[in-house]
Amino acid sequence: MKPLVTFFLLALVAVAALGQGIDYAKIEILTEKMAPNLYMLSGSAGADPGHEDAAGGRIGVLAGPDGIFMVDAQYAQITDKVVAAIRKIGPEPIRFLVNTHVHPDHTAGNANFVKMGALLFAREELREELLRPAGRGNAPAGDPARLPVVTYGMGDPVKLRLNGEIVDLIPVRAAHTGGDTSIRFEHANVIMIGDYYRNFGYPFIDLNNGGSLKGMLEALDATYKLAAPDTRLIPGHGTTITRDDLIPYRDMIQGVATSVQQLIAQGKSEREIIAAHVTGPYDSKVPGGLLPAAGSGTSADRFVSELYRELKGGR
Ligand SMILES: [Zn+2]
Repeated sequence: MKPLVTFFLLALVAVAALGQGIDYAKIEILTEKMAPNLYMLSGSAGADPGHEDAAGGRIGVLAGPDGIFMVDAQYAQITDKVVAAIRKIGPEPIRFLVNTHVHPDHTAGNANFVKMGALLFAREELREELLRPAGRGNAPAGDPARLPVVTYGMGDPVKLRLNGEIVDLIPVRAAHTGGDTSIRFEHANVIMIGDYYRNFGYPFIDLNNGGSLKGMLEALDATYKLAAPDTRLIPGHGTTITRDDLIPYRDMIQGVATSVQQLIAQGKSEREIIAAHVTGPYDSKVPGGLLPAAGSGTSADRFVSELYRELKGGR
């Protein structure tokens, strides 16, 4: 059996054994250097059933004498491992943290870093999403330290100048969620693009937290325009890409949306449309696309269901 096939079968067995459980003890933090003082931290594979390729959301770390600037906070249960990885990069205090979006694999550790002295930035919409009692993103609820202190809307980017870098917090129109931000490191020529792009599993448009198909397509277009041909785009999950990789991804989203729209026009129900398996032409190009996704069959099923709900609603 091919190692990859074995891996996925083991992953499925793990999902069955753990329910949707995450094996936090098993997660290791892997560090990748992107520029002289910019690093990406990712969770190891095989411990997080929702993200089999790498546990939790990717973290960015800009280090230097002005203090550490971080993008996203991962799961709260592995903060000590994240801090240990940061300490291998540099001894400076963690001064700033920004969230790309509300989901717990990116925000659940917020309070831990804030209590170490980090000032938390995010979109105003993200703060509201964190406060919502039934949202996906409000774990661990109750601790006010998890909430952003500095918030911003859809205006010009917030700029931070530190460690010889210019960091732009770029508000993204409602895409993966209603409060997405891209983080651009101008000198490193890197943009962290959160979860409105992913290359492991089908796209996730979180309608319950304000995400939208239209916003996702707009976000991809805006990112394409902002990036230079050699700019490295780093998603919250999956591998680093360049702007040309956005084109087939956008085409895939548009293609599946068109198929769903046609079936809606024929009067098909959500269940019938999911059963029609309209992602078929893309499945071989979307690693992890047929793995289970939180709460709704495979990530392909979840994606089609989201498109149905949005297109049926005429939004
Ligand atoms: Zn995520």
